[in-house]
Amino acid sequence: MRSHARVVIVGGGMMGCGLLYHLAEEGWTDSVLIEKGELTSGSTWHAAGQCPSFIGSYNMAKIHHYSNTLYPTLEEKTGSYVSWHGCGGIRLAFTGAEVDWFRRVASMAANIGYDIAIIGPDEIRKIVPYLGVDGVIAGAYTTMDGHIDPAGGCNALAAGARQMGAEIILRNRVIDIRAKPDGEWLVVTEQGDLTCEHVVNAAGCYAGKVMEWVGGYAPFVNMLHQYFVTEPIREFIDSDTEMPVIRDPSASCYYRQEQKSGLIGVYETAEGTAEEAWTPQGYPAWESESELFEANYERSMPHLEAVLKRVPIWADSGIKRVVNGAISHTPDSNPLLGPAAGLNNFWMCTGASIGIAQGGGCGKYLAQWMVHGDADINMAEFDPRRFGKWADGDFTRATAFEEYNRMYACPAPGLELPAGRAKRTTPLYDKLQAKGCVHTRAFGWERPKWFSPDGRDEACGYRRNNIFGVVAEECRAVRQRVGVLDLSSFAKFAVTGDDAERFLDRLTANRMPNKDGGMVLTHALSESARMQAEFTLTRWTADNFYLLSGAACELRDLDLLNNSIAEGENVTITNVSDYWGVLVVAGPRSREVLSKLSISDFSNENFPWFTARKVGISNIVLRALRVNYVGELGWELHCPMSKMDELYDAIWQAGVEFDIADFGVYAVNSLRMEKAYKGWGADLTGEVTMAEAAMERFVSKNKSHFTGASALRQRLQDGIASRCVYLEIEASDADAGGGEPVYADGDVIGVTTSGGFGHVTEKSLAFAYVDINHADPGTELLIEILGDRRPARVLDEPAWDPGNDRIRA
Ligand SMILES: Cc1cc2nc3c(=O)[nH]c(=O)nc-3n(C[C@H](O)[C@H](O)[C@H](O)COP(=O)(O)OP(=O)(O)OC[C@H]3O[C@@H](n4cnc5c(N)ncnc54)[C@H](O)[C@@H]3O)c2cc1C
Repeated sequence: MRSHARVVIVGGGMMGCGLLYHLAEEGWTDSVLIEKGELTSGSTWHAAGQCPSFIGSYNMAKIHHYSNTLYPTLEEKTGSYVSWHGCGGIRLAFTGAEVDWFRRVASMAANIGYDIAIIGPDEIRKIVPYLGVDGVIAGAYTTMDGHIDPAGGCNALAAGARQMGAEIILRNRVIDIRAKPDGEWLVVTEQGDLTCEHVVNAAGCYAGKVMEWVGGYAPFVNMLHQYFVTEPIREFIDSDTEMPVIRDPSASCYYRQEQKSGLIGVYETAEGTAEEAWTPQGYPAWESESELFEANYERSMPHLEAVLKRVPIWADSGIKRVVNGAISHTPDSNPLLGPAAGLNNFWMCTGASIGIAQGGGCGKYLAQWMVHGDADINMAEFDPRRFGKWADGDFTRATAFEEYNRMYACPAPGLELPAGRAKRTTPLYDKLQAKGCVHTRAFGWERPKWFSPDGRDEACGYRRNNIFGVVAEECRAVRQRVGVLDLSSFAKFAVTGDDAERFLDRLTANRMPNKDGGMVLTHALSESARMQAEFTLTRWTADNFYLLSGAACELRDLDLLNNSIAEGENVTITNVSDYWGVLVVAGPRSREVLSKLSISDFSNENFPWFTARKVGISNIVLRALRVNYVGELGWELHCPMSKMDELYDAIWQAGVEFDIADFGVYAVNSLRMEKAYKGWGADLTGEVTMAEAAMERFVSKNKSHFTGASALRQRLQDGIASRCVYLEIEASDADAGGGEPVYADGDVIGVTTSGGFGHVTEKSLAFAYVDINHADPGTELLIEILGDRRPARVLDEPAWDPGNDRIRA
């Protein structure tokens, strides 16, 4: 065996082979895949092989669509048998909420490029005459998907990779992985050692075990999932066409034709019915190969009965085969795709529960990320660093089981699921709960979403609902009086050392604050100028800076900061996210509230917009930052977490005379949309540069030495093809949420990235990336929201306080 490679991939299932193929396509042919058994001998070989187009997430749908365009061509490309069945699929809807979801997914499909039609029960019967449609109100018919022989597909990817020059070593177990002092990795295998620049953990059900070797963690559970194959069916024998794959939420099952038999796969829904494989160790023995488990009819029986009722032609046939196999489930059912936290050039390509459908697309976009430093799609929702240490075993088990049970449930926006909650709370958590706070989870933190004034629950769905007026009232409180919000979930870093200023100046695009207490909003870019991170940066002294970023970015940004320190540079990065709590106090009366509690001067002269001071409030020494994301006069108070309760009580008492109110992040979204503040992760992502994002004003004109500067200059010189615009929509009862297509002259010319209703301005607002020829203010466009094309107009200024008079008041 050779001693060096650029990349070593551990594991030869669909995910590993998908990556090997696409790394080779990107030109990284010096890649070796090591498999302990035969290719596909983990989860891949026994999969049912379905590859749906229909998927709720915009970015994941791009992954699925890519796979579904690749697989039908693989046989021709590689000469290897694939057995692609392009039979299409129909997902059934039984409720209005499901139909709204279909409309939303169908709108997104317009941008992604796959065909989808929402059809009625009669049309469904025409396509599948033996399917009962009792209770069915619609179907989402996707014609470009189907199913594949998983082993065939995986072997074809492997064959293609080999043809391009990549290497595969079979029957060789990786037994350890160690970091070398020079930054490379030593991969220890049964057949010898291999040194490499990059390691990829694609070990499927074993991926958690592999992480232990390097001190990392892979949050997923190996669940048991089974499908049943019937005896041959007369109707199938007599038919030349193949039925589409049916996805039936009423039975929580998928079913289709397998040769001339029926195939029924079950996601059990009742609590206690989901089962973990290989308890208590959680992963199979190393010797395990192509392992299956005893059939368990009992747990699946109610679901099978529901299917047999709906497809009566199967009712009298026996079951000839049951496949009960292991399937990995993460806490959010997305794979773990990207860098492992804190480990340089150690990548994860695992945790996939729909890994046959996703293997091709995941491989493509992960390969882009590894080779170019960023991918063409927003990878944030797949990045393994979306889970921190708080995502411990208990959290992972609870959420993965919940996810398994809900595989066929409609993901209603706003729904708060009970599993794995309260992993990261502030001292205010119980107090706010008692005040009616509905919390939502962000990187493990519980943060206020809205406050129920009368105990009502949110009627979750895709349209404006029963809390529309409640959130409006929270917004008005902030705009007219004063509001308070616990936003401790921010990621927070101290950057210290003699070289801290030079380091940050090189890393970020905006000018550095030149005075102590100065602040800037600034961005870190990749070498190709795509956006990597957004920081609110405060200078305490020239060797002491405080950086804030979004909750979900904590580990990503920590890696970025640490990995950017040059050799010999005296810089220390400290993650202080848990130490500092944050209370936002915002609104025209906020200065009066704070002044009642402090001898510090909160006047404009002493404490202007975008500056920070150390102050005392009610005898608590804390950091006040005059900045906020809601576009009002206001401060963020950063105080030691242990003092949060005391601070909140003091603010509340002082605020009573001004009719202070609690508010949550639903209100924040409305308020920031009115102020045209873009959202990191939605409007600002690694897919674009500051030029497309219309963020040039945050790039210093006097700096040419920051990472990505020359690529950004080039981009500005060459001109851009699309640009982020701010839109007002003539909406009806639903607002844009991101992913909606934007139309001009009947063509799709863009996509929304976020939106919401501005409760104070009473405008439905959105951000969208549109073709540059349609980006001028005043341009009239159409935005499709839940199937309805609504008129929209490009705005040239924020809907609220365009002159910034209020925030500078
Ligand atoms: C019953 C069932 C039906 C399914 N149906 C579908 C479906 O219809 N559509 C769909 O998209 N998905 C389906 N899946 C899920 C799908 O099978 C998985 O998501 C997918 O196979 C995961 O691929 P993988 O490459 O991550 O893992 P695996 O296929 O398990 O590959 C990991 C490989 O790593 C190797 N390995 C591990 N450790 C080492 C080591 N130390 N050294 C060397 N090699 C190592 C293993 O031997 C294994 O071959 C189904 C799963 C089940 C159980």
